[in-house]
Amino acid sequence: MSPRESLHDAKDLDVKIEDLVVAFGAFHAVDHVDLDVAEGHVHFLIGPNGAGKTTLIDSITGLVPYTGKITVGGHDLAGMRVQDIARLGIGRSFQTATVFERQTVLQNLDIAYRGGRSWTSLFTLRRGIPERIHEILQVIGLTDHMSELAGALSHGQKQWLEIGMVMAQDARVVLLDEPVAGMTLEERDQTGELLKTICPGRVVMIVEHDMEFMRKYADAVTVMARGSVLVEGSVEQIQADKRVQDVYLGAAEAV
Ligand code: ADP
Ligand code: MG
Repeated sequence: MSPRESLHDAKDLDVKIEDLVVAFGAFHAVDHVDLDVAEGHVHFLIGPNGAGKTTLIDSITGLVPYTGKITVGGHDLAGMRVQDIARLGIGRSFQTATVFERQTVLQNLDIAYRGGRSWTSLFTLRRGIPERIHEILQVIGLTDHMSELAGALSHGQKQWLEIGMVMAQDARVVLLDEPVAGMTLEERDQTGELLKTICPGRVVMIVEHDMEFMRKYADAVTVMARGSVLVEGSVEQIQADKRVQDVYLGAAEAV
């Protein structure tokens, strides 16, 4: 597809992954994975450390080469560059928050809003703050902090800013890598509510370790172990599955 296309007007946003393999030398970090992620759900990807969760997100966002097929809203991502995938409307966060600490909250959102477009002065200096940015500030709960340096935010607020930046770049597919790690219980719940708020009209996939958080907020769950999909289903199905208990128990014993 052409780099100019975007998912913005796509009727169907579903992510379809078929026979995905990501190899590092002879080692398959992702090993023949099939996975569908539907629009409008909060889809959790869980599994022990080293299961291949981050690598799977890396493959969708163009950061690692793969074999197999990844389509989003029917668009094949094969051969697309990282920036074109982002421009298409696929956004992500990283395990470690990657906000610009020496810029304000508003400047961070501006950077995301401009995307790869050429440099122009901040929108605050141009035509005021766009309505869309006001909405995002409200949704991520940072309206009162918009003029603060991102570096001064709490850990939770930084993660919300990162989610806001993904929204500002108009992502319709939102991939979040362990956003609640290190958050307080209250911040976790606020993040869960935030995910529920942003998921209509988007695909939201979240990599998570915290089973309690998953239980509260997942609409669908995929469990990975050693590069493969172990089991998929609802929270109830996952919790009742002996294989999931074994893999988590095994991981806990290995620590
Ligand atoms: P998870 O996010 O589920 O904890 P990762 O996707 O980060 O797991 O890693 C899956 C496996 O791939 C791990 O064994 C990890 O060491 C390995 N791996 C990840 N990235 C690389 C890389 N760039 N080179 C070699 N091995 C890697
Ligand atoms: Mg990871």
